[in-house]
Amino acid sequence: KRRNPYQPEFVQAVQEVAEDIFDFIGDKEEYHEQQILRRIAEPDRVVSFRVCWEDDKGNIRVQRGWRVQNNNAIGPYKGGIRFHPSVTESVLKFLAFEQTFKNALTGLPMGGGKGGSNFNPKGKSVREIMRFCQSFMTELYRHIGADVDVPAGDIGVGGREIGFMFGQYKRITNHFTGVLTGKGLEYGGSLIRPEATGYGAVYFMANMLSAKGMDLEGKTAVISGSGNVATHAAEKIVHLGGKPVTLSDSGGFIHDPDGLTLEKINWVKHHKTHRRGRISEYVDEFPGATFHEGKTPWHVPCDVALPCATQNELLGDDARALIANGCIAVSEGANMPSDLEAVHAFKAAKIMFAPGKAANAGGVAVSGLEMSQNSARRSWTETELQDMLKDIMKGIHERCLTYGDRGGGYVDYVKGANIAGFKKVADAMLAFGVV
Ligand code: NDP
Repeated sequence: KRRNPYQPEFVQAVQEVAEDIFDFIGDKEEYHEQQILRRIAEPDRVVSFRVCWEDDKGNIRVQRGWRVQNNNAIGPYKGGIRFHPSVTESVLKFLAFEQTFKNALTGLPMGGGKGGSNFNPKGKSVREIMRFCQSFMTELYRHIGADVDVPAGDIGVGGREIGFMFGQYKRITNHFTGVLTGKGLEYGGSLIRPEATGYGAVYFMANMLSAKGMDLEGKTAVISGSGNVATHAAEKIVHLGGKPVTLSDSGGFIHDPDGLTLEKINWVKHHKTHRRGRISEYVDEFPGATFHEGKTPWHVPCDVALPCATQNELLGDDARALIANGCIAVSEGANMPSDLEAVHAFKAAKIMFAPGKAANAGGVAVSGLEMSQNSARRSWTETELQDMLKDIMKGIHERCLTYGDRGGGYVDYVKGANIAGFKKVADAMLAFGVV
């Protein structure tokens, strides 16, 4: 805390990892001598820059942009860009730190980074968003590259924004390289990238259930968020025979006791992305549902839960309500949606709990596959990619089991993910000496 004052999210993320790997590194002198944890918890660099743009009324607006390059021991920095008013250096440092372990867990050669701006895309015209993205890239381009740092989308940054940023990168550098992932299919994007994070979080859930001889058939799922991750998680739950009953946004949550069908989910996707609408409007379209303003969905009874909106959206009381209502498994589609108290409650109750760094790694994994396709200048089919995503999620689940199996049928997936991710990065850092 003294090294990072006023950075609560970053301190929280480091504390969680430190608590978990403490026993593992206990007798490993090299890790101590080489100060590996301290080195991983100090980003390689944090670049902060001014982003100046002109709104539709001709006013000059000034925002702050960042790129946090946390660690490139096992590959180029890789991690998304977030545009949201809640973005601070602390939030991006926590995300870049988590990303380092997540990327290591995928088994692909990717380091960890994250970037973004406190720019609020809500209520902005498409032309304003384009001007902002171009201005953001006009500074960012000098810090990234296909073999250096490969950003992607995140909250507030979808295919449209990636298109504007890629266009500006190409215009400035004259290089057509795989410098961003999440691109459109016409210009080097990968099939199933939009679906990958949500689908992957559900595959991970299915892997946890299957290890206990269960599946998702007939299970009621409570999901938060209504963006990219949440809607695709809901879709995969339906594919696997489950019943999603909630979605949310920053205004509140909707509860549809009949369950969201693929048709309803498609309506939400269209409503949120193309019409930039609010989830509250769902109840006008589907009258069986109710809207709960300013609330999160964790008190709705369910078998499984998937927090897919944002960090710290599931607190200690919410975790206790889920457990009391019979929830048996939680898979985090978002990054650090459960706060430390909630994580401790899940662990104490010994329910199946998959942290974001394991459960939502499907997105960055397919981004890694997009990088491979760009380097080879070819593209794989949807079936090939679906199989690769399933295999990668299975591999992550197995790596978590290796270090998280506590005996008696209980797996501490948080510990498993932290140790497996840490070990790979730490061993690479040891090989480089003191750098
Ligand atoms: P989107 O922008 O598509 O959707 C975000 C959703 O979360 C929206 O429903 C949004 O509601 C809601 N939300 C955002 N901030 C808040 C808040 N402060 N309180 C309540 N709700 C909020 O983002 P994604 O679906 O891409 O990302 C969701 C999470 O998943 C993030 O934690 C992200 O880091 C993580 N993630 C995403 C990956 C990806 O591939 N996209 C990969 C790995 C992790 P509203 O519309 O009201 O803003």
